Amino acid sequence: MGLFEDLIDIIYPSTCPGCGKVMESGGLWCEDCLKHLWDPRLINSSNTGHLKGCYTLCRYEGGIRECIIGLKYSSRKEKKRAFPPLLDRFPYWDRMGSFDYVIPVPLSKQKMEKRGYNQVDLMFEDWMERHHKSYMKNGLVRIRSAETQSLLSRTERFENIKGLFHIQKGLSITGKTILIVDDVYTTGATMESCAHELMRAGAGKVMGLTIASGAT
Ligand SMILES: [Zn+2]
Repeated sequence: MGLFEDLIDIIYPSTCPGCGKVMESGGLWCEDCLKHLWDPRLINSSNTGHLKGCYTLCRYEGGIRECIIGLKYSSRKEKKRAFPPLLDRFPYWDRMGSFDYVIPVPLSKQKMEKRGYNQVDLMFEDWMERHHKSYMKNGLVRIRSAETQSLLSRTERFENIKGLFHIQKGLSITGKTILIVDDVYTTGATMESCAHELMRAGAGKVMGLTIASGAT
């Protein structure tokens, strides 16, 4: 995807966000992209201790990967339209059960200042509010970033990210069921660290949901 496709996105919003094909009617994502990407599931081994499982919508490849990376690293905020239609299609809302709060995985203060927004908010916030879910943008605070994470082994990742998140001061979540949302689930180290902190702060149960994952 390049500048041309982005321009097309803005001028013709009824194009598939994955491949740019003009959609005449029906859903936003084209059948070809969905066939390739759509894989809603509970991720195997996502019950990592404090986190009681994480669901995901798509495989982390092709058009959805482009949309996530564009929103995350290239300030292509118009890509945010790609996500609500996928949340609409997610078949396991009932199976997940109800949750009291939705809390995004936060960016560090430095990264937030540099990027100007948390891409996770652009993916989930409006949709959650439209569905009367309590979205707590700053429920968790990130102490520092974990830049070197991609060079580490799975065990090292879990170790490296420990204690990275703190609950927002004064926020009471005692006995509450919480859904953590993020863009991509890789090893689950980030989600587990968030869940650990929320359970420490008294949450009753913590589950996760991400847009995409390369994990099975
Ligand atoms: Zn497409």
